[in-house]
Amino acid sequence: MTDSVKFFLPEEKMPKAWYNLAADLPVPLPPPLHPGTGQPLGPDDLAPIFPQAVIAQEMTTERWIDIPEPVQDVYRLWRPAPLIRARRLEKALGTPAKIYFKYEGVSPAGSHKPNTAVPQAFYNQQEGIKRLSTETGAGQWGSSLAFAGSLFGIEVEVFMVKISYNQKPYRRALMETYGARCIASPSTLTACGRAVLDKDPHSNGSLGIAISEAVEVAASRDDTKYALGSVLNHVCLHQTVIGEEAMLQMEMAGDSPDVIVACTGGGSNFAGLAFPYIRENLKGAKTRIVAVEPASCPTLTKGKYAYDFGDTGHLTPLVKMHTLGSTFMPPGSHSGGLRYHGMAPMVSHVKELGLCEATSYAQTECFAAAVAFARAEGIVPAPESSHAVKGAIVEALRCKAEGKAETILFNLSGHGHFDMQAYTDYFSGTLKDLPYDERELEAALSSLPQVG
Ligand SMILES: *Cc1c(COP(=O)(O)O)cnc(C)c1O
Repeated sequence: MTDSVKFFLPEEKMPKAWYNLAADLPVPLPPPLHPGTGQPLGPDDLAPIFPQAVIAQEMTTERWIDIPEPVQDVYRLWRPAPLIRARRLEKALGTPAKIYFKYEGVSPAGSHKPNTAVPQAFYNQQEGIKRLSTETGAGQWGSSLAFAGSLFGIEVEVFMVKISYNQKPYRRALMETYGARCIASPSTLTACGRAVLDKDPHSNGSLGIAISEAVEVAASRDDTKYALGSVLNHVCLHQTVIGEEAMLQMEMAGDSPDVIVACTGGGSNFAGLAFPYIRENLKGAKTRIVAVEPASCPTLTKGKYAYDFGDTGHLTPLVKMHTLGSTFMPPGSHSGGLRYHGMAPMVSHVKELGLCEATSYAQTECFAAAVAFARAEGIVPAPESSHAVKGAIVEALRCKAEGKAETILFNLSGHGHFDMQAYTDYFSGTLKDLPYDERELEAALSSLPQVG
């Protein structure tokens, strides 16, 4: 047994392939459907908005997908990301549990999102695309794609959810530093945006609306494609470098996790850490896998598993997922990255098959956990990641109560250096746990599209 704190993989041990859980699912994923015809989607349907290589990855059931050399080259700017044993947090909690975290905040944009932004920009460049449009909630994804675009010579246009655009001017500045253009959504640049503004001129925006705007731009211009930062199969695929690295690092630590915890917005950082472990569970391992979501946007715990649109403007395909309804407007929260009505179809499917658990916590208890973590370990978590920190602390305290020395591994998906206003609000007591509107949720769920 080592008393090391950080477990670094040498660069040459960085995974050379992404892992595709679709190859090993005991029940295949329900297919995405065309929004007009209700028929299963073909590759041609996605061609206006995604490059061919990405579409192929979206649909493949091949187990391992090689990571292209130019993508590995960029990954090496920060990967392999460290695995850290939170010894001081263990001590502060007085738990016999061992707590490890995979730290994705070391990327240039400060989160796990460049893991998929980089390959997406690369595949678009390979197919001659000059511009990418996208949406961003808290700004993590927009800055990640802006960073990736700058490396591959692609112009990036980001529709940023208005409430975050106003709350997080430094994320905007970061995107502009990487050369991207950032627009508050809903905007007057698109028909979707104008329709929302007509009904509600003071709309705070939502990820669903921003996605509609970005898709509309990509669909209407030949030189522009669209990139999504979460939810889709290819995004979950790209994120599996996290779990593959973590497995090798846990081995270096001479340990293996009894329980894995990650936060879920669209599901990608969770998928990234959990899917390789679910592969092992399907072969007989018994790691508990816990998804943590915000109580104000409880997709996995309160949503319906049904076909729904990925966006508010109903331009995207219908996918089967846990959803709160595409018209559901979650209350304003500082975890912008978790305010999405849906969930990755792959993560939803895994939940439905009983291959993971899900739980939710309110934002103030997550900030309390994040502060305790920062005071023990030094790293200030992103508000999104604070949900994983909370989930890990709950598990550690359960171990303490039960007198069990379990091993906990969680994904610290990003740092909170651009989110200090949220911490200020938490300390001043102005950060509130806003409940979602039950009636609005009921209405959004009752208007789900009718599918077979
Ligand atoms: C975007 C984001 C999330 C939520 O997205 P997932 O696809 O669920 O991972 C979580 N943490 C951070 C730091 C983010 O930027």
